[in-house]
Amino acid sequence: MAIVIRGGTIVTMNPQREVLEGDLAVVGDRIAAVGAWAGGDEDQIIDARGMLVIPGLIQAHTHLCQTLFRGMGDDLELLAWLNQRIMPLEAAHDEESLYYSALLGCGELLRGGTTSIIDMGTLNHTDSIFRAVEEAGLRYLGGKCMIDNRLQPDSPLHEETEASLAESLELLQRWDGAAGGRLHYAFCPRFVPSCSEELLLGAAALAEQYGVPIHTHASENYSETLLVEEQRGQRNIIYLDHLGYCSPGLILAHCIHIDDEERGILAARGVNVAHCPSSNLKLASGIAPIPELLSQGARVSLGADGAPCNNNLNMFMEMRLAALLHKPRCGPAAMPARQVFEMATLNGARAMGLEQEIGSLEAGKKADIVLVDLRRWHTWPDRAASVYAQLVYQAQAADVYCTMVDGQVLMQEERTLTINEAEVRAGSRQSWQRVKLRAGLD
Ligand SMILES: [Zn+2]
Repeated sequence: MAIVIRGGTIVTMNPQREVLEGDLAVVGDRIAAVGAWAGGDEDQIIDARGMLVIPGLIQAHTHLCQTLFRGMGDDLELLAWLNQRIMPLEAAHDEESLYYSALLGCGELLRGGTTSIIDMGTLNHTDSIFRAVEEAGLRYLGGKCMIDNRLQPDSPLHEETEASLAESLELLQRWDGAAGGRLHYAFCPRFVPSCSEELLLGAAALAEQYGVPIHTHASENYSETLLVEEQRGQRNIIYLDHLGYCSPGLILAHCIHIDDEERGILAARGVNVAHCPSSNLKLASGIAPIPELLSQGARVSLGADGAPCNNNLNMFMEMRLAALLHKPRCGPAAMPARQVFEMATLNGARAMGLEQEIGSLEAGKKADIVLVDLRRWHTWPDRAASVYAQLVYQAQAADVYCTMVDGQVLMQEERTLTINEAEVRAGSRQSWQRVKLRAGLD
């Protein structure tokens, strides 16, 4: 019993970076063969002629809880965006609105070839996110957002330190390893200014005790870095390092306003930096020193961040932007397409702590696979460029023909098979009406 993906160009991302013409076979939730399949007992054949067969794309920073707020935070910088829009809106979520927000995001991600995400939830109703992702079929690392320090005296998104830690632990026990090992828990303190030192230390101790990662934001915005220095007396990354945060078990979104010393710490400690170019431009946050971090050996992966600061969850857009954004400053050879594609696959897998399982197409790895159809005006001629240039500079999310996670086809020919698109559209529209009233934004 096998699914055979027949006749495509397989971009393996194996250690030799082989690109093979031929078949890829999936048995159960794993890849059984790459390049040729002699089994003969296939029960499903997917015709991949004219397509690239690539590892599922991995976004290292998203907020499924914010998909419902798409278009509601335009033209603001980070702290105003958070205080005026995102905090009140996140606080206004109910169980159902959060569920539809997450499903809406999952549908967009699957349609565009993203198979795995590292995600930050919101304070309340976190079960709704895990439930949605469990049903949608994506691979997930994330958790409840933790905030015990108000950015503004009247901020509605706030909880007590002990309650935040206790609820996070409860969620970890309920969801870590669920859905056949597809769902994983990470502690998610929002960012330093909204977390007491007690909360940050408590989350680190629990993460260490349970062997799970920490996902947070750092040095995204210049005013944020000043706020951290004022509150904690140290630069942001140095402070996090002082708390024991900087390790391969940390996924840190953004890292834009960092000095040489902080850059050195991120590289030396093996911290996973999640680069979010669209979000960084839209919130006018700045341009992260990604070429410098990479040349120092830092681990850098990619993500779209949330829908209200992007406004899409489109990994093809992030890849293209990550490749282009740094060239004016660092030269045209900076961020070549293959390196960017490594960030979107292998580096994302490492950020999730799943480099043995996903990120490349090799026999024995999990069958997280995406097919990209190159028979389009904007990708032709299909043999003119390297496959990496095709993927990073030319292909678009809408060119994705099929998305598979754990050997299950979740999207094919524009149809999400695990998500009822009409229901999610209706459910999220109704949810938005309730949430916006509750948030006082009507
Ligand atoms: Zn974020």
